[in-house]
Amino acid sequence: MARDFEQEIKELETRHLRRQLRIAESPSETTITIEGRRFIAMASNNYLGLANHPAVNRAAIDAIERWGVGAGAARLISGTMTPHHQLEQDLARFKQVEAALTFGTGYTTNLGLIPALIDRDGLILADRYCHASLIEACRLAKATLRVFHHNDVEHLEKLLKKREKAQCTLVITEGVFSMDGDLAPLPELLTLCRQHEATLVIDDAHGTGVMGANGRGTIEHFGLNPQDVMQMGTLSKAIGTGGGYVAGTAALKEYLINTAKAFIYTTAQPPAIAAAASAAIRIIQHEPARRERLWKNRNHLHAALTNLGFQLTDTQSPILPIIVKSSETALKMSQALYEAGIYVPAIRPPTVPKDSSRLRLTVSSEHTQEQLETVVTAFREAGKEMQVI
Ligand SMILES: *Cc1c(COP(=O)(O)O)cnc(C)c1O
Repeated sequence: MARDFEQEIKELETRHLRRQLRIAESPSETTITIEGRRFIAMASNNYLGLANHPAVNRAAIDAIERWGVGAGAARLISGTMTPHHQLEQDLARFKQVEAALTFGTGYTTNLGLIPALIDRDGLILADRYCHASLIEACRLAKATLRVFHHNDVEHLEKLLKKREKAQCTLVITEGVFSMDGDLAPLPELLTLCRQHEATLVIDDAHGTGVMGANGRGTIEHFGLNPQDVMQMGTLSKAIGTGGGYVAGTAALKEYLINTAKAFIYTTAQPPAIAAAASAAIRIIQHEPARRERLWKNRNHLHAALTNLGFQLTDTQSPILPIIVKSSETALKMSQALYEAGIYVPAIRPPTVPKDSSRLRLTVSSEHTQEQLETVVTAFREAGKEMQVI
């Protein structure tokens, strides 16, 4: 029997879980144009305004003129070009590790990395709030997957004590959690992994460019040695371009080149995107003022929303989630804000657990004081109207 897609969509609609694409008629900036109307954009991961930065754009245009648009083949066949090699060197230097390997997206980085690290005899212990790409990667790996309570080091320890000593074990977490904005207790997790001979894998998609004195990420924020962990990240958020990477030892890189299917069997990232990512990393390293502006904006908006009485998560990053519980309230509030000229979509299950639907704001270094004031005013009015505050 064939599935009735229309019926299934209707069912999603009645549960307030239907999702729809909105078409942006403008680049990723602090404003977004939809159906000819301008909105203040509060939902992009373009934390440092590099997705449409003139120097980053210029690097891509120059690279297209020099290298063309497509890479033509997978990296191992004939798709590795100078910009890919350069980007991997830049990433390794930025992350202060021996080597980096890039993939098509952050999502496929996880799909490539995790199954290459472990097989069906192994054990994966993953934080309950890990991103969908990590969970899919764990399933693909076929190892036993156990989930520990979010950021609960004691629960993780219990699970580590239960396993057989010889079993290959990965502990997987995010540096900055994408839907809650809080940080993993990396020093404690690392100590535990050492005691139990497990490997700590960190997805630093939202930490890179944002956390740490030099924007190197959550590992720098905690003052840990990057040689002690295995980390991946994406080029699509603060770095403003597209693609993902693993940063670690030269041996890990070599091993992944030989075993990670999501690396081997896919066409190389377009060379212009690699060149743009290199330019963006250069800006991150040379313009700390951008990160300072980001944090100033973040702290200002966090304080204003908290003072209004909104219930925020325990966020420690520029991700500001406002919990409104029901999907229906989240949708209605998002709609009210939309009408007030603020673009912030409702985040609902299955992206977040049941009864924790939220409006998730992300702040950029490029938001102006005036834009942030408009956002606060609109939230105050919508929050009162919906009886959220
Ligand atoms: C966004 C994200 C990814 C996927 O990265 P893309 O480059 O968008 O594919 C992976 N992990 C986490 C935690 C993310 O937030």
